[in-house]
Amino acid sequence: LFDGLTRQPADPLLGLTALFEADRRPDRLDLGVGVFRDEQGATPIMRSVKAAEGRLLERQDTKAYLGTEGDPLFVRYLADLVLGPERADDPRLTGIQTPGGTGALRLGAELLAGARPDATVWIGTPTWPNHAPIFRQAGLSVRMHRFFDPSRSDVDLDAMLADLANARPGDVVVLHGCCHNPTGVTLTAAQWALVVRFCSTRGLVPFVDLAYHGLGDGLEADVAPTLALLEAMPEALLAYSCDKNFGLYRDRVGALWVQGATPGSATLVRGHLQALARSMWSMPPDHGAAIVREILTESVLKEDWKAELETMRGRINGLRAALAALHPALAPIGRQRGMFALLPVTPANVAALRVDHGIYMADSGRINIAGLRTASIDRFVKQLGPFLPA
Ligand code: PMP
Repeated sequence: LFDGLTRQPADPLLGLTALFEADRRPDRLDLGVGVFRDEQGATPIMRSVKAAEGRLLERQDTKAYLGTEGDPLFVRYLADLVLGPERADDPRLTGIQTPGGTGALRLGAELLAGARPDATVWIGTPTWPNHAPIFRQAGLSVRMHRFFDPSRSDVDLDAMLADLANARPGDVVVLHGCCHNPTGVTLTAAQWALVVRFCSTRGLVPFVDLAYHGLGDGLEADVAPTLALLEAMPEALLAYSCDKNFGLYRDRVGALWVQGATPGSATLVRGHLQALARSMWSMPPDHGAAIVREILTESVLKEDWKAELETMRGRINGLRAALAALHPALAPIGRQRGMFALLPVTPANVAALRVDHGIYMADSGRINIAGLRTASIDRFVKQLGPFLPA
């Protein structure tokens, strides 16, 4: 039965982690997998998360099933944080808890596949490697459009809109809400408004992926483009992950919101989301979402979480500024935001950095900025320098 299956390629980042762990050099650097790291290279559990877990341990008195939509209070308080209380009450919006941002994207993809099976999903290049497989596995066609211009290390809006001119009404456009993975580049507010108007006049449906809320310029600034988009568009989808900004990666915490043209359409959508979730995972895991709910409902915990998030963001943006100041070819990194940057290096350069200096990064040249250390950033840029354009 199974021998006819084609062999799947190994996950390159997991292979990289194994190589890193076998490396005994004390100054080795893991810039591969996308988790926040502190100056010591650790990915600690946040204080506010530990405190919320303590409260849950004391107070939780049942593990009985929740519904397919997860914990409605988690979704409600997260909506207040992300969308603001007013928009959270918009009857055209409906949201349910999902297993991480990945689950939210997949649930949205399944909804789209049911509603419009012949829709094409447009995704800018480069992107998170899981985007295209998620939509393809749901049976949708995927086409890539240009997004990043490596020669300027910036968005190529003209190329993006030229490619999207081939989209048909009802097609879907995936947009990173903030902190683009892997390039860190951001559309300016004016460019974002152009993209939104483009989608609106051509009847394209935006699907925003917001996986790094608060890790770019702050909680309000990072979600502002998404809010403007929801305001302007009749229909849109929003996949949200709490796995980075609450440091809950393995606990799989996320939500999907869908905005329908009318309250009736949102009610229809909600029924489909519940039915789809039931057949895929029945209900999302509770623990991580319960932690987020505790944090968002208890003002002391919430303030502490915000302070911790600000420290994380400060570390990332401090490292960005330091990199930008040390080499002209790295200057754009200072303007970019989020966990990642794409270095202008070849796979051969990446291999040389790994073998000669114990610097581990993806073959694409994507680095996790938080994997760097302030204390050794000079050394990093010195070792990287020979491979960078003058
Ligand atoms: N979207 C993007 C752009 C991501 O980088 C990630 C995580 N790497 C996700 C979605 C999914 O996040 P989660 O771990 O919550 O599934």
